[in-house]
Amino acid sequence: PEFITVQELANRMAARGAEVVKTLMKLGVMVTITQSIDADTAELVVEEFGHKLRRVSASDVEIGMRGADDDATDLKSRPPVVTVMGHVDHGKTSLLDALRQSDVVAGEAGGITQHIGAYQVRLASGERITFIDTPGHAAFTEMRSRGADVTDIVVLVVAADDGIKEQTVEAINHAKAAQVPIIVAINKIDKPGADSSRVKQELLQHELIVEDLGGDLLAIEVSATEKTNLDKLEEAILLQAELLELKANPERAAEGVIVEAKLERGRGSVATVLVQRGTLRVGDIFVAGGEWGRVRALTNERGEQLKEAGPATPVEVLGLNGTPLAGDDFTVMDNESRAREIAEYRQQTRRETEITSTGRGTLEEMMSRI
Ligand code: GDP
Ligand code: MG
Repeated sequence: PEFITVQELANRMAARGAEVVKTLMKLGVMVTITQSIDADTAELVVEEFGHKLRRVSASDVEIGMRGADDDATDLKSRPPVVTVMGHVDHGKTSLLDALRQSDVVAGEAGGITQHIGAYQVRLASGERITFIDTPGHAAFTEMRSRGADVTDIVVLVVAADDGIKEQTVEAINHAKAAQVPIIVAINKIDKPGADSSRVKQELLQHELIVEDLGGDLLAIEVSATEKTNLDKLEEAILLQAELLELKANPERAAEGVIVEAKLERGRGSVATVLVQRGTLRVGDIFVAGGEWGRVRALTNERGEQLKEAGPATPVEVLGLNGTPLAGDDFTVMDNESRAREIAEYRQQTRRETEITSTGRGTLEEMMSRI
């Protein structure tokens, strides 16, 4: 059978996820936005929304593109994927830099040297944490708006000498909307004006109750510039990850999301893919948003060439025929003609959507002038 997640179906129809869930409820199907439904159910929903399902080939081009859900027995633990958010100048970039240097293999192998939009830190315990290295709410919401839930945990950076500010509140709201757990990094504790108990008090106003005050929110006092308590922050992330029981099946065709993509002189289109399940290999044929390609090379954040990349691994991919967008999905396909067909179909739908929305704008403008 072929499956599609509710979120993905909503994206294809440019509809709200909640509307699709509601429609499914009317049809007697109780699912959440992250769950998958089969092609026949999806077809009913599509019709409910007044769309015509276009079958470009025998099997519908979009629906069923991704594989079915994995059996529980095939799932293996995977590292957490973390996004750092917070108010401007509270130390997001500094913290990401400091964490990058906490990698234990840094000394021997040259460490994390490439900026590819995400990196994975290896800890002394052997455990790993993947950080999305494009801090900022725009990246987070942009990816989410395209249906990409990349983040398992949000690290909320709050400067101890400044407290909760406008963008801190925005970040809290984004994390809550995405139902992603928050860990607070109270930063700049080295500064004379630092007052972490004030930060904790202010967090209360947003229903975030730290452990000291009887809640279960993990808050770690750090200094990104002095590199204080970064190990404690990493421990907190791993503790939170353990509670989430993060797992993925590494033994399947890779699926993931585009974290970053650009056209580079001499290299062509280059994309950083976060593999979410399965294992990506050199030679694999894939679709990435409205583009497709064949993996020519995989490079990690250390500049090393890889033969393969498993779940929660960020990796730079060469071999794209075009440049996809951040937040686009990435899916390995069986063969080139299918990959090409899907990419072409998507490009066409995107163009049509653009035309339709422009048309509507013009109509509204005309009406307002009457
Ligand atoms: P971002 O806008 O959140 O990415 O913040 P940055 O990482 O660019 O930091 C803003 C400023 O705060 C820079 O001048 C940093 O050097 C400084 N800063 C960041 N972390 C710390 C810290 O832990 N202690 C002190 N004293 N300064 C910090
Ligand atoms: Mg910054």
